[in-house]
Amino acid sequence: MNRSLLSLVAVAAVDSGACGARAASGTTVIVTPDTSMTNQDKNKRVAQAAEILNNSDIVCFDVDSTVIREEGIDELARYCGKGTEVARLTKEAMKGSVTFQDALKLRLDIIRPTQRQIREFIKSHPSTLSPGIKDLVNYVRNNGSSVYLISGGFDCLIEPVAIELGIPLTNVFANKLLFYFNGEYAGFDTNQPTSRSGGKGDAILQIRQIHPESNITMVGDGATDLEASPPANNFIGYGGNVVRNEVQTRAQYYVTDFRQLMQPDNCTFKNLNQNNS
Ligand SMILES: [Mg+2]
Repeated sequence: MNRSLLSLVAVAAVDSGACGARAASGTTVIVTPDTSMTNQDKNKRVAQAAEILNNSDIVCFDVDSTVIREEGIDELARYCGKGTEVARLTKEAMKGSVTFQDALKLRLDIIRPTQRQIREFIKSHPSTLSPGIKDLVNYVRNNGSSVYLISGGFDCLIEPVAIELGIPLTNVFANKLLFYFNGEYAGFDTNQPTSRSGGKGDAILQIRQIHPESNITMVGDGATDLEASPPANNFIGYGGNVVRNEVQTRAQYYVTDFRQLMQPDNCTFKNLNQNNS
């Protein structure tokens, strides 16, 4: 099945009520997802999502479970022998009223990764790119748009991913781990916007300060990505690695395969005379 046909089928599935309701532009979608649906069935308004992407000046991607298949902090915790403890804490944090920054601190206080562990972890556990992301990033850039990575993860784990995708490190927002001179863990930089609740939205506001008229789209799997719009103009949910029901329910646009967003037939191929990064 070719891509445009695939999109039409997906949109038809939404229209026919498979996802519970069809959203008008600008409205909030309240639907109850059918847990028996396959990931493919969970797509929402795919053709419109592709159009939104084509019309974006800046596309910001979440990293963990979006650009890459894994959750970096969980993988790092497992590598440092603290996987179970951290997973338990994450579960508890999600139930209660722990702020993002406190949850991050609690988990890092358990892992306490040294600089050497980080180096060895990156070498032995390179991140796995999600299917189609490399082509999608190139597609967005060829359309004259800029690509950013906005992550609640750590810059030392994300930079190799940015380099692999050809994204300048100046276009990366992520948390920064701090180390003592002997390489022991010393904490994290609490000045980074992504270290706080609502931080991805703050990162987008920073981008908007530099590019005030830009049409900005956030793409991600998580609630923090969804909540970054606004200030992002649009949000496209991604469920290719994990489908989070809250996000799939609330997102106006949802795809489970990045290749669904590449529809060159609809592409306007903007020529903005801007930095093609
Ligand atoms: Mg994520």
